[in-house]
Amino acid sequence: MSWLFQRGWIGKMELRNRIIMAAMTLGYTRDGFINEKIKNFYVERAKGGVGLIIVGGCYVDRLRVFGPDFIGIDSDEFIPKLKELTSAVHQYGAKIAAQLHHGGRFAPSKLMGVQPVSVSNIPSRLTKEIPQALTTPEIHQTIEKYSQAARRGKDAGFDAVEISGGYLIGDFLSAFTNNRTDQYGGDIKGRMRFLLEIIESVRGKVGKDFPIIVRFSANQLVKGGNTPREARVIAKALERAGVDALNVRVMGTHDSKVPEIVMSVPRGAWVYFAQRIKEVVNIPIITSHRINEPLLAEKILEDGKADFIYMGRPLLADPELPNKAAEGRLEDIRTCIACNQGCLDSIFRAQPVTCLVNAQTGREKELEIKPAAKVKKIMIVGGGPAGMEAARVSALRGHGVTLYEKDDRLGGQVNLAAIPPGREEFRNVVRYLSKQLEKLGVKVNLGEKVTSATVERERPDAVVVAAGAIPIIPDVPGIDGENVATANDVLLSKADIGKKVVVVGGGAVGCETALFLAKKGAIDAQTALFFATHGVFSYRQAVSLTRKDRDITVVEMLEKAGRDIGPTTRWTILESLRQHKVKIITGVKLEEITDKGMFIKKDEQRQFLRADTVVIAVGSRANTQPYEELKGKVAELYMIGDCKEPRKALEAIHEGFAVGNQI
Ligand code: SF4
Repeated sequence: MSWLFQRGWIGKMELRNRIIMAAMTLGYTRDGFINEKIKNFYVERAKGGVGLIIVGGCYVDRLRVFGPDFIGIDSDEFIPKLKELTSAVHQYGAKIAAQLHHGGRFAPSKLMGVQPVSVSNIPSRLTKEIPQALTTPEIHQTIEKYSQAARRGKDAGFDAVEISGGYLIGDFLSAFTNNRTDQYGGDIKGRMRFLLEIIESVRGKVGKDFPIIVRFSANQLVKGGNTPREARVIAKALERAGVDALNVRVMGTHDSKVPEIVMSVPRGAWVYFAQRIKEVVNIPIITSHRINEPLLAEKILEDGKADFIYMGRPLLADPELPNKAAEGRLEDIRTCIACNQGCLDSIFRAQPVTCLVNAQTGREKELEIKPAAKVKKIMIVGGGPAGMEAARVSALRGHGVTLYEKDDRLGGQVNLAAIPPGREEFRNVVRYLSKQLEKLGVKVNLGEKVTSATVERERPDAVVVAAGAIPIIPDVPGIDGENVATANDVLLSKADIGKKVVVVGGGAVGCETALFLAKKGAIDAQTALFFATHGVFSYRQAVSLTRKDRDITVVEMLEKAGRDIGPTTRWTILESLRQHKVKIITGVKLEEITDKGMFIKKDEQRQFLRADTVVIAVGSRANTQPYEELKGKVAELYMIGDCKEPRKALEAIHEGFAVGNQI
C-alpha cells in the first residue's frame, strides 16, 4: 500500500500516513472535560498507527451543542486536561487536532435550556425547533468564540484545528437555510462571509504556521442547498484565505433524506464530490464516508481523487486498522459494517458510543484481554456471533477451545442478516471471526449437535452455550398451510414465493425480508446500467427492472413498523420500502390463514388480505434446551447471546467477549 502509507503534509504538519481519524461525538464526558476514558480511547487509536486524530466536535459555546456529552474548548479551564490528551497521543507518533463545533439550529432547547440560534429562523428537520437568527453583534461574538477556541487548541498542544463547516456554519453557507438580506446573506459571496471571517480571526490568533482544516459539504443533498457548483466557489475562497486542507463531505446537516453513511450506501460512493473539489484547488483534500477498508482507501489515493482518508467508524471497529494494513494483515482487520448500532444510534439516544463488532470500544482499559490464570478446556456450543466471539477471546487468553455448530457453517443468524439487499456488510462479521478462530487454533466441529453425552465424553472444564434462538410460529388456524413460509426459509430461498405476498411482522426481519422479496428475481444494478448504456432499454425502464413486480404488504401488530431498527437506519429502510411500493399496515392482529390469504383484525374490524404467500416474521424465542440439558453436567456452565434472550448481534458479540474474558 504505497499510497496509504506515504507521509503527507497539511500545511507545516507532517503526518506519518494518509489515514485521519474522524471527529466523532463519543458521549464519554458529561462535563466537557477530557477524562481517562477519552484518553484511553484515543491512545489506543494512536498506538494503532493512525496519522492524525481529530478530536471532537469540541464546542466553542457550551450552550450550542446537542447535549452535555461534547468536549469543551470554550474556556481556558479545559486546557490542562486537553494538554494531557495531546501529549498522550503524541507519545505514539500520531498528530492530533481539535474540531471546533457550533451546533446552530440543531442544539435542542430541551437539553440546552435555551432557544437554538442560527443564521435565519428556519427550523431543523431533526428537532423541528425554530432558531433565533443571530444579530450582527452576535455574529461577531461567535467569530471571536471560534478564534479563542482555536487559540486554546494551540495552547493545549494540538497540532491543528479543524473547523466544522456544517451545522451553524453550514447554515450560513446554504441558500436552503440562509435567507438573510444583510452582508451575511444573499449570494454565495455573502453566505460565506461568516466562515471567511472565522478563518481570518482564527489565523490571527494561531499564527501563519498553524494548520487550519475546514470540513464542509460539497453537496447538501437538499433542494435549494449547495451543490458542487457553490462548493467549488467556497473551496477556492478558502484556499485563498489560507486554509491548509479541505475535508469534503456531503450533507452537513440533518435535513436531507438521502442516506449518507448507512450500510446500504455503496462503499466510497461520496468520494466523487471530494474529487470535484480537488479539481479546483491545490491544497490537500480529505475524503470520507463509507470508506471502511484499506484497499479502497489506497485506490482512492492512487486514482488521485483525494489526498487523505477520513475514517471514523472503521477505527471504532478496529483501532489497529492502520498497523494491520501496513503489515499486510488485511484478514485480521475487524471491518466496520456501517450498522450504526453501537455508534451513531447511541449518540442519537444520548448514550456513550460502543461498537457492534468491538466490545472494547470505549472500554479499552476496563476490558483489556489478559492471559488466563489457569488454562482450561472449553467447549462452545453454537457458532453464531456470540459463540465465535467467546471462542476467539478464550483462545486469545490461552485456553484450549473447541466450538460445536449443529449447522454446516459458522455465522448463525448473521448469515441471514447479510442476505437482504444492502445488508451484505454483515458477512464481514463472520469472515473476521472465522479467520481469527482458524489462526488461534480453535477446533471447529461443524454439523455436530452437543448433548450431555458429548460433555461426558469430552469432560471440558467449562461449557459456553450460545445456541441462538428459534423463530416464533403464531398459533393461528392455517399456519401449517403450503402457502406459509418463515422469513428464514424465504431468505435461504427454501420457499416458493407467489406474486402477492403478505409479510406478518414489521420488525427489522420483516421489513428486510420484504425488501429482499421486492428485488428477488430482478436484474442487478450493473446489468441495468449495461442495458441502458447500450440502448437495450431506456434508463427509466432499466431502473424499473431492478425491482421485481411483486405485490408486497407488511402487517405489523404495533403502531409503527421497524421499531427494533436503530434510529439512523430505520428511516432509510422505510424509505426503501416506500420506493419499492411495499405497503405497510400497522395495528393489525393476525387471525387466520387460508389458501387465498389471511384474515386480520384492524380497528376491531375483521378484514381479508389476499396473498399467494404468507411470510412469518414475528420474532424468535430463546433456544434454552441445550443449556437445560447440560445443567449440572459440568463445573462451569455459561449461557450467552440469543439463547438467553433474543436480541441483536451487538449484545451477542459483547456477551461473547465478556464470557471469553472471564473464564
Ligand atoms: Fe461500525 Fe457498526 Fe461498529 Fe458503528 S457499531 S463502528 S457502524 S461496526
